[in-house]
Amino acid sequence: MWDIAVVGAGIGGCYLAYRLAGQRVALFEASRRVGGRLCSAPLPGVPGAAAEYGAMRFDATEHVLVDLVLHLGLQEEVFPFDFGRPENLTYIRGVRLREHQLHSGAQTLPYRLRPEELGLARDGLVDLVAERAMPGFSAMRAESAGCRGRPAVLAVERYRQARRAARWQGRPLHEVPWTELTEAVLSPDAAALLEDSGGYDGRESAGSAAYHLDAMFQTPPEGGYLGLRCGFQEVPRSLHRRFTQAGGLTFFGHRLVRLERTRTGGYRLWFDGDDQREVLARAVLLALPAHAVECLESKALPFHHAAFRHGLASLHRVPAAKLFLTYPVAWWRRAGVARGRSTSDLPVRQLWYWTTPDGDGPGALLAVYADGAAHRYWKALADDLGPAASRRPGPASPRLVERAHDMLLELHGLTTAPRPAASRWQDWSGDPYGGAWPVWRPGYDADAVIPVMRRPLPGEPVLWISDGWTPRPGSVEGVLEAAERVLHEEFRLPRPVWLRPDAVCWDVR
Ligand SMILES: Cc1cc2nc3c(=O)[nH]c(=O)nc-3n(C[C@H](O)[C@H](O)[C@H](O)COP(=O)(O)OP(=O)(O)OC[C@H]3O[C@@H](n4cnc5c(N)ncnc54)[C@H](O)[C@@H]3O)c2cc1C
Repeated sequence: MWDIAVVGAGIGGCYLAYRLAGQRVALFEASRRVGGRLCSAPLPGVPGAAAEYGAMRFDATEHVLVDLVLHLGLQEEVFPFDFGRPENLTYIRGVRLREHQLHSGAQTLPYRLRPEELGLARDGLVDLVAERAMPGFSAMRAESAGCRGRPAVLAVERYRQARRAARWQGRPLHEVPWTELTEAVLSPDAAALLEDSGGYDGRESAGSAAYHLDAMFQTPPEGGYLGLRCGFQEVPRSLHRRFTQAGGLTFFGHRLVRLERTRTGGYRLWFDGDDQREVLARAVLLALPAHAVECLESKALPFHHAAFRHGLASLHRVPAAKLFLTYPVAWWRRAGVARGRSTSDLPVRQLWYWTTPDGDGPGALLAVYADGAAHRYWKALADDLGPAASRRPGPASPRLVERAHDMLLELHGLTTAPRPAASRWQDWSGDPYGGAWPVWRPGYDADAVIPVMRRPLPGEPVLWISDGWTPRPGSVEGVLEAAERVLHEEFRLPRPVWLRPDAVCWDVR
């Protein structure tokens, strides 16, 4: 009998295992690798280019992750992850604009904006909506971003109270769709401009107004994103190495299919995979996405209560996929772009200039990063590879590559470019993920749902740590904060010494 069984070796499971190392803890993982939705791998023919198929960046204000990266000795790998550079392109309604034109609110935009909207940059339009939802939002966010330590912690607390108290037409903001607000506050064309130029499918994945405002508050414009040259997956890999070095055991090829209570106390876990086997444990930590828990055999799963089912329905899992293309030369430099991100209302939606050589040489693009409706467009072209294509990065279908290549030429205003040398496609909508990241649906109060889902069996030591059940859903920081909180409350682990004492955390107490 194990004292603790951790199921799932994504960042959540690896972090829990690392922090609990030294106890009788075992880690069980369905696949053959650690990292889950942190998945980094070299791209063929482009030396030094590690594709990020899952998460690729983190905010400089995400203190648990930033401090963990330093603690793991990865500081030399950190780089500023910039996008929205002035020369980047936005190709919308058939018009090609540079980022600086979009942000100047210029009259050249192919959108009929109201006079008061004309002077506003894209971010200004979003801020207008936020202000109407919650007067004082921008000032509170700027104040929080401008202070450190205890004042910053207090600023977050003040914001959270104000957001909870805010009402839109008498309704709390967790009941209001963000899209409803946008359409009420902005002209139809201003709302369309946000949607077309934003890179993400706002209609599908904006979530509730409360969720959207929190996400805006958590990633202030002043913050700035960071990435890891060695790949984001190195964080769970490093944690896992330390767990193993401390004597921890990992069982790969172990997919949890059932979970039962035993008569003598504790839990029986049934795994499918290389061989079927049962494992007994006194406590179970499920470090799994929502869809993976839904896939467990429901008859045997002891979570049946209405509050749990209500919680499961609260998350929309945003379907998303990435296509990387490599080229013998970085032809996009002819269009005056080498770094950052371009966006479009074409199904490519957003593309990132992943590795662009200074001189001649092979280059790589994150050529398609599509969610929502655009994801469905590409998925239809990808499916001729069969269902396995949805589980690990692999070459994309020729049809998909051809279509993407043609769209890239149109976006850059070029008629010729060398053919792609290689492609890699990763779709996160299949099992066991069921989506790339979760967002809170309108109508669900995260503050009420999270505690129920974290401990689905009231009073019992079965805890569910996931990027859904956190005030920062769909982020690595959210998972780490949730894990820390559970480690403290359930296992009485002290705060890690490497975590700055005045870290701004939305979850850790
Ligand atoms: C395309 C994309 C872009 C993203 N961008 C960002 C970003 O830029 N920044 C950011 O912070 N976050 C981002 N995210 C979200 C981030 O990746 C996740 O929030 C985070 O990685 C979730 O970690 P986790 O450990 O909770 O779950 P996962 O990473 O999903 O790990 C779960 C693990 O459980 C295993 N498993 C599943 N079912 C079973 C089972 N039945 N039995 C045993 N094992 C099982 C899986 O194989 C997997 O290894 C992005 C995600 C995607 C997909």
